[in-house]
Amino acid sequence: MKYVRFYTNNEVNYGVLEGEKIAKLEGDFIEEKTKKVGEIFNLSDVKLLSPVEPRQIIAIGLNYALHAKESGKPTPDEPMMFMVSPSAVIGEEDSIKLPNLEHRIDYEAELAVVIGKKATNVKKEEALSYVLGYTCGNDVSDRVLQKKDGQFTRAKSYPTFKPLGPVIETEIYDPNNVEIKLSVNGEVKQHSNTNDLIHNVQSLIETVTEVMTLQPGDVILTGTPSGVGALKPGDEVEMEVEGIGTLKNSVIG
Ligand code: MG
Repeated sequence: MKYVRFYTNNEVNYGVLEGEKIAKLEGDFIEEKTKKVGEIFNLSDVKLLSPVEPRQIIAIGLNYALHAKESGKPTPDEPMMFMVSPSAVIGEEDSIKLPNLEHRIDYEAELAVVIGKKATNVKKEEALSYVLGYTCGNDVSDRVLQKKDGQFTRAKSYPTFKPLGPVIETEIYDPNNVEIKLSVNGEVKQHSNTNDLIHNVQSLIETVTEVMTLQPGDVILTGTPSGVGALKPGDEVEMEVEGIGTLKNSVIG
């Protein structure tokens, strides 16, 4: 199933995407009210929003060996986690705004895990049963501030720095074997597979929920593969995760 959140007739709605049509749902799929109400919308007639509004976003750094190498960092023994502000989230076809044109600001294509139920001290073996589904996430990062601050909150939390979408796909049964790709202006910059993750999705859920409780709708960004690079105003970014779809965002200054 592909869950979407969308805006039409001056209200925010939740639905299931079926081809080019959206079947409206009774309530918020995050709260498991997934009954269809019978109303159908054309995808082309609505504005898609980020499919989820997380209360927490936990991001993982250096979780692909080749990306750690290009960053000049050793691969961490344990998942290197940090938090970014949910106020940075935008959706499909929203613009990424660069706050400082002097700074190098990079795209980072990532598989985003959307949590489906309250999760504390979850073991690897049960981890996937806590997942609602998966979406595309772009962990936009100001490299100058990242280096200067020595931690990532400011570098990664500006408004528009966390595009998510376009859908939450619930039927990915092995999240550790999906292709991930990002292109800028049609040129492929990142192309990998989550089978290259150093710490897989189950391990990340175990490690994160050892230290904090995750709630339905919270998001784990699983790390980016190699090929990161700078964005500039006018760029068109498209990121794709196999089975989910393509998340498109333009860049403005
Ligand atoms: Mg990242």
